[in-house]
Amino acid sequence: MNIGVLTSGGDASGMNAAIRAVVRTATLERMTVFGISFGYKGLCETSELKDPTPCLKQLKTEDVVRILGTGGTILKSARYLKFQRNFAERKQALENLQGNDITGLVVLGGDGSFRGAMALYKTNLKAKIIENLRIICIPCTIDNDIPCTKYTIGSDTALNTVLDCIDKIRDTAYSHKRAFLIQVMGRDCDYLPRMTSISSGAHIVLGPNDTADLNEIYKSIKHGFKKGKEFVIIIVAEGLKRIRNFNGKYVNLKTTSNKKYSAAEKIGQLISARPLEIRPVVLGHVQRGGRPSCFDRILATRFGVSAIKALSDNNILTNQPLMLALQNSSTTEDSINCIPLADVIKMLSKNANLKTHDKYQFISQAVIRGFSSKLKWPEYFKTTLKENCS
Ligand code: ADP
Repeated sequence: MNIGVLTSGGDASGMNAAIRAVVRTATLERMTVFGISFGYKGLCETSELKDPTPCLKQLKTEDVVRILGTGGTILKSARYLKFQRNFAERKQALENLQGNDITGLVVLGGDGSFRGAMALYKTNLKAKIIENLRIICIPCTIDNDIPCTKYTIGSDTALNTVLDCIDKIRDTAYSHKRAFLIQVMGRDCDYLPRMTSISSGAHIVLGPNDTADLNEIYKSIKHGFKKGKEFVIIIVAEGLKRIRNFNGKYVNLKTTSNKKYSAAEKIGQLISARPLEIRPVVLGHVQRGGRPSCFDRILATRFGVSAIKALSDNNILTNQPLMLALQNSSTTEDSINCIPLADVIKMLSKNANLKTHDKYQFISQAVIRGFSSKLKWPEYFKTTLKENCS
């Protein structure tokens, strides 16, 4: 059997470890692996030259040495709108696979890449290009926003990177007795902001669906310093949409004029109207890179091995696309399970329509110390532990 492997969308640390596991396991299973560069863009590429698919290259065991502990993706990644929009483009991708006798495809990426995998599968059903096309998706994104799986490749590394940055900022915050607004990635998902706030002991966390109430934030910071705090760290999710300003009016951060500022910068600007020194820091793309954590290397290896197991398992009678998920198999053990991709996409769409993104509300309110009326501390810990460890 010939299989292809590609990385698509936002890169995540640990993708290389997964590619390595796919190539090594497939080689043991006597499969031939083709690495496809630049995701769906590479898969669609054609050439006037003899080689019909310039972005396809056979990968052998020796091609994946010393990549287990490296960040980014050796296969490169891309975003490619034409693949999403054009049936003809996806048909070309299928023809390129067929031209190399590839009947199995492993897709490493996030929700967009998974929608792409589903679109490719549906295009094949219509155009009937590859008989028994099998697609396996491996969740890779720092946001940890894919349903069904406890963790995605890259989220643990990003969490540790953010924590490391906050620890450094705390040193300078402490030295100057300052307040810092630290903006972290995670799109519309609460995972990165909430988990970093718990693990860094942040004063306030503003998740993507919270409202940043400036009066409450200001009061809380002042109260903290008065009580003897030497520094104040506030975590701001990049996806934060709403501020309530000092006059009680709501400010939508997603309007064209406000969009030119990051959420942390906007809050910083508005709070500076009061006598308080507060500095915004946007961590940005540093959160994506770096050597994968031990956890991500192991998770990626398990996912990579399982992808080949799923492709070679004749007992999996269905040839519909599948996603691998890390799930609990008992109170102490976990296992990698195959979930129909259609189910995952259905859940993603449902979440997108939910105003409050309930699934991602690890703690259902902004936890603002000193005056959070809705949450009591024991309740806060219970919710956190239940959601984080289940
Ligand atoms: P991620 O996988 O990190 O969420 P993107 O959302 O950028 O990344 O998606 C990666 C690529 O997947 C896109 O550039 C596009 O080629 C493809 N893709 C995304 N959404 C769809 C869709 N609805 N249908 C087909 N292809 C899609």
